[in-house]
Amino acid sequence: MSECIFCAIVRGEVPADIVYQDERVTAFYDIHPAAPVHVLIVPNAHIARAADVTPEDAAVVGELFVAARRVAETLEVSEGYRLVVNNGRRAGQSVFHLHLHLLGGRAFTWPPG
Ligand code: AMP
Repeated sequence: MSECIFCAIVRGEVPADIVYQDERVTAFYDIHPAAPVHVLIVPNAHIARAADVTPEDAAVVGELFVAARRVAETLEVSEGYRLVVNNGRRAGQSVFHLHLHLLGGRAFTWPPG
C-alpha cells in the first residue's frame, strides 16, 4: 500500500506529529484540525474503511479505542471528547485507511453535520 499516506506515516516515510505509537497502532495530529485537540488513530496495517473490517481485525480495532483513551488522558481531554469514523466518501471519508478522529478541547453539538 505504498500510495497510502497513512501507511507512509506509520512507516515514518512521511512526517507527522506522532503522539502515540506501538506495534499495531499509531496516533498523530490531524494537519487540518477541527478542534483544539484533533488526533487521528490508525491501525498500522492497512484497512481501507470501517466497512472492510473483518472478524480477524477485531483485536486491532479494539486497540484503536485503547489508544484513544491513552491519547485523551495524555492530552488531558478525558472529560469530554468525540470519536468519529467516516466510512465512505458520502460520509466524508477522504483518506482510505481506517482512522478514528479524536476531537477534544471544545464543546460539541449533536447531530453532526
Ligand atoms: P477523513 O476525511 O475522515 O478520511 O479524515 C482524513 C483526515 O486526515 C482529515 O481530517 C485530514 O485533515 C487528515 N490528513 C490528511 N493527510 C494528512 C497528513 N499527511 N497528516 C495528518 N493528517 C492528515
